[in-house]
Amino acid sequence: MSEDVHKRAQTLITASRVEGISNSDRAWLNAHLADCAACALRAHSLETAVALLRSIPVTLDPEVVGATRRRVRLRARELREHKSRMRGLWMACAFSWLLGVLSAPLVWWAFQRLSQRFDLPEPLWITALAFYWVVPAAAGAAALAWQWPNGAQEDKLANPYR
Ligand SMILES: [Zn+2]
Repeated sequence: MSEDVHKRAQTLITASRVEGISNSDRAWLNAHLADCAACALRAHSLETAVALLRSIPVTLDPEVVGATRRRVRLRARELREHKSRMRGLWMACAFSWLLGVLSAPLVWWAFQRLSQRFDLPEPLWITALAFYWVVPAAAGAAALAWQWPNGAQEDKLANPYR
């Protein structure tokens, strides 16, 4: 058997203890463990080690438990608030995009009429129209980038326990 087969078996043995594996992976692993004594021994060793670890009673300081619960609740609240803010932002972006599309013919007509009235060259009013579309979006993106959490805040969001 190749090394990759045993390596896959070890990965699946570990994964089955952590996040679970699919039925097809389970069937493959069981077939491999039936044929490979070395991998079967490793799987048995892991089972024994996990069973031993579970048999050790662990008592935690109630203050540590309480602090952990508070931090988990705080983190959950932060995630909910962040999700809510992002939902509002996406809705505002979608609404803005819809209004932009719906008003495009009218804005085009208005810029064209103004250029005719003041006898402006076509490249000039088309450039002005492009700025009319781009500048508000760029200003919004800049404001969003300015409001976006900086690196330290992102670290705190990713791991509030540091
Ligand atoms: Zn093996």
